[in-house]
Amino acid sequence: MDSKHIEKLKQFGDLRENVLLSTLTTLRIGGPVDGVLYPDSIFGLIYSIEYCNQNDIPCRVFGNGSNILASDDRYPGIIIKLSRTLQRTYLLGEKVFAEAGASLIALCHQISQEGLTGLEWAAGIPATVGGATFMNAGAYLSSMRESIEKVFVLKDGYCVWMSVDDCQFTYRKSIFQQHRDWIIVGVLFNFKYADINEIRTVLKKRQQQRLDTQPLQAYSCGSTFRNHPDHPSWKVIDSLGLRGYSIGGAQVSEKHTNFLINKQHASFDDMYKLIRHVQEEVYDKYNFELILEVEQFNWKTNQ
Ligand SMILES: Cc1cc2nc3c(=O)[nH]c(=O)nc-3n(C[C@H](O)[C@H](O)[C@H](O)COP(=O)(O)OP(=O)(O)OC[C@H]3O[C@@H](n4cnc5c(N)ncnc54)[C@H](O)[C@@H]3O)c2cc1C
Repeated sequence: MDSKHIEKLKQFGDLRENVLLSTLTTLRIGGPVDGVLYPDSIFGLIYSIEYCNQNDIPCRVFGNGSNILASDDRYPGIIIKLSRTLQRTYLLGEKVFAEAGASLIALCHQISQEGLTGLEWAAGIPATVGGATFMNAGAYLSSMRESIEKVFVLKDGYCVWMSVDDCQFTYRKSIFQQHRDWIIVGVLFNFKYADINEIRTVLKKRQQQRLDTQPLQAYSCGSTFRNHPDHPSWKVIDSLGLRGYSIGGAQVSEKHTNFLINKQHASFDDMYKLIRHVQEEVYDKYNFELILEVEQFNWKTNQ
């Protein structure tokens, strides 16, 4: 990117130049990006996006990068992170407003301590509220949709409320995936008061379930593939004897076969080849395609 743009973008917040995407993603994979911007206010966010649009600079908002597989190629644009500016939460009785950069895990614990139920399933998901809303993250048959009342969105230069119906949430999907230029600024939740001891018990149970079944010490993006309605991906992959199978530094986790992990300095190429290998084996044996749940970022179109 032209250095003149870099200088201009610095007025909107803290701009870090030449950052590796591997430092911004939980998989620890990804090449350099021209700049990472931490806007200093919501106006820094609004006007940095306007500046990028006017000057044809690619830009994208990242949460915690916990669902992103980035290529090793340079991204000739900027990544915007909201985790410093928009990370507050406001407790309004059963309603709770959380800014998009707030941690989902922190929110889950905060509301539980208030005796509010509705987010126990999220204990252990290393997401931001914005990223979890974008993905309609979920677990244990619950998802973001069930607790969201409305979402505050920056679209086409205006901040507007979108109702939960407008967001078109379905399994790991939302309208935001079709409009990648819309930015989730905050979310108004509607929880319910319940017995605090019961909430604590469920929370502990969920955390233990994750500890028991997921490779939480490894670099991963959680589940790599979406689940087929009739065939959970981990079962299908396991049935092919691929537990522990690796290519370069990328491995099908020994602990959970739908977690493809960065075991040892995996490159994008290692992970990509492993994904393709698993998909091909599944297709050959079961005649259906495993669809990626993890987001592709900065991939060449022919990959
Ligand atoms: C150990 C582990 C366990 C996991 N378990 C689960 C699970 O149980 N259930 C589940 O659903 N997922 C799970 N995940 C995957 C991941 O945490 C979720 O998909 C999560 O929703 C991603 O949130 P994020 O903030 O990291 O978003 P990112 O990965 O940073 O971004 C994901 C997408 O959202 C977009 N985005 C982020 N913020 C905004 C915003 N403010 N406005 C507009 N777009 C935005 C990004 O541009 C990107 O396209 C797990 C991941 C890990 C590493």
